[in-house]
Amino acid sequence: MNPLLRNRLRSAQLIAVVVVAVCAWFLPYGLDGYGIHVVNIAIVFALLAVGLGLAMGVAGQINLAQVAFFGVGSYALAIFTTTSGLGFWVSAVLAMLATALAGLFVGIPALRVQSHYLGIVTLGLALAFTNWVTNAQIAGGASGLNGIPVPPLFGIDLSNEYLYYYLELIVFALAIAFAVFLVRTALGRRLRAMRDDSLAAGAVGAPVPLLRMTAFLTASVYGGAAGVLYAGLIRYIAPETFSVANMFLLLAMVIIGGRQSILGCVIGAVALSLVREALVDFSVYAQLGYGSVVVLMVVFAPTGLAGLPGRIHHAVRRRRSGDRAVLKPFRPYAPAEPAGQGPPLEIAGISKNFRGVKALKDVSLSVAPGEIRGIVGPNGSGKTTLFNVISGIYTASSGTATFGTEVLTGQRPYQLSQLGLARTFQNLRLFGEMTVEENLLVALDRSAMRSLWRYVLWPVGIWRFERRLRHDAAQLLERFGLEDYRAAAPKSLPYGIQRRVELARAMASGPKLLLLDEPAAGLNGQEVGQLQEIVRSIRDSGVTVVLIEHNMGLVMSLCDRITVLASGGVIAEGTPAEVAVRPEVIEAYLGDSFSTAEVVRAVETETMS
Ligand code: ADP
Ligand code: MG
Repeated sequence: MNPLLRNRLRSAQLIAVVVVAVCAWFLPYGLDGYGIHVVNIAIVFALLAVGLGLAMGVAGQINLAQVAFFGVGSYALAIFTTTSGLGFWVSAVLAMLATALAGLFVGIPALRVQSHYLGIVTLGLALAFTNWVTNAQIAGGASGLNGIPVPPLFGIDLSNEYLYYYLELIVFALAIAFAVFLVRTALGRRLRAMRDDSLAAGAVGAPVPLLRMTAFLTASVYGGAAGVLYAGLIRYIAPETFSVANMFLLLAMVIIGGRQSILGCVIGAVALSLVREALVDFSVYAQLGYGSVVVLMVVFAPTGLAGLPGRIHHAVRRRRSGDRAVLKPFRPYAPAEPAGQGPPLEIAGISKNFRGVKALKDVSLSVAPGEIRGIVGPNGSGKTTLFNVISGIYTASSGTATFGTEVLTGQRPYQLSQLGLARTFQNLRLFGEMTVEENLLVALDRSAMRSLWRYVLWPVGIWRFERRLRHDAAQLLERFGLEDYRAAAPKSLPYGIQRRVELARAMASGPKLLLLDEPAAGLNGQEVGQLQEIVRSIRDSGVTVVLIEHNMGLVMSLCDRITVLASGGVIAEGTPAEVAVRPEVIEAYLGDSFSTAEVVRAVETETMS
């Protein structure tokens, strides 16, 4: 997008926000007592929906306990104010803390299970909550709790729903602003990367387990705020408000509106709240109706109403653009002085068993600093498994990998990334719903999760950090000749460019050790030549490179040494010239009835896709 258009779009957005804010401010003047009540309830649901959208749409964590967070917030407030006799605002703070704890508790299963299993577990926890409040004496049983006080606020009479609306509006505006800020900056990008591909997110340094907990924590805080506002508004709570039926209504709001978009969640929540009011006398048919619309949306518009403009835009652009993209040249890194410094990679006796399959058998090899090491071998010989063990995706059955003084085995992928290890994947794993620039930004972000306090207390710090990251991303895009594709969706790009993006993403983390899994697969001759130049430059800049490759021409000319794997074991190692003539290598590749010259020729043309 050109800068002029971007500026126009930005001013249009700004104008839209101002118009919406003015309309929201004057809305009560046009509503009767019933109307303002409906709106007040709609805002509570919108808050809940935004929280759910952050967990589900942004972070990809299925959370069917959102209505239970809502309930924890409401009930905690009710219990603290009525039974314990605390003031409203003190109780509100305590209720928010209780909900945050509930969020962390519900998030624990996400560390072990994902997708529909996580849906079932969170739904189970939500049901347990409704069950508990229906039976517990402290929660008033089936008849609920009443007598919640009106929140006192500088003498403003908040029992008046017209005035309560403004309290809700302010809380809601802050909540939306925070959600948008989150989604557009470093933490939100990591959450989205985890949603798109949690394995790749870990490999570029995003602490996936902590991010999963963060997603549930955020959802629960929004749920808690909604619960407090609801209890202060109605001043009476009962279990049926937090029922599974309402959970599904909430889910419908988020899916119909568009779970990946904050605006979508709000639109879905407001629209369905109004529809629900309109259909209050036909609630059974209404439920059926929501169900059908949700199914239709999931099938035909998975990104919801808010995602429709983007989908149409992409479809039109794809038809127009075609495959005429040509990569710009790579700008080499400055060579390191002196060359060949850094720690060596030592792999000692690594084995990996998958039930019956012995994918790796006692593999040992050492790679000197600044070396380019080739790993070759027939398909299924365990090359990718070796990378997966080194990069922490699999745990070794036995053996260790060390990088200098650091023991790699036993650490998680994101910890290894922080130690200076980066990798690419045999079958590209780019973050599909993010732009090329955002793919790089995720890897450029080396911040620790403990710096997250800034999101709450020092957003300016986050903003500055963001500017620095964008500056670095621009340089990296230029270095890899990708600046024309900055805002493109990876899937819309030709394969060769996607491979280049993945390489740039790996380099974005500033690694000392780079593992490339078949980087030339699917590239044309010219692109293979460019790849060779890039890998050399990366090595010269002081990075140790290990590469798995089937393109023998590339391996022979690029690698300092080659390790040959067959059936999970090392069968040969040496310089390209030494290895190519070893009888066991020839046998592993081609059987033993070839002459050496034939083998070298065959090996050079070998592509074995
Ligand atoms: P290569 O990359 O050399 O083609 P791989 O490392 O992908 O080979 O696979 C080596 C062997 O390990 C194969 O027999 C494969 O089926 C097996 N394998 C790899 N990953 C798994 C897994 N997650 N579960 C079971 N078997 C696996
Ligand atoms: Mg492989």
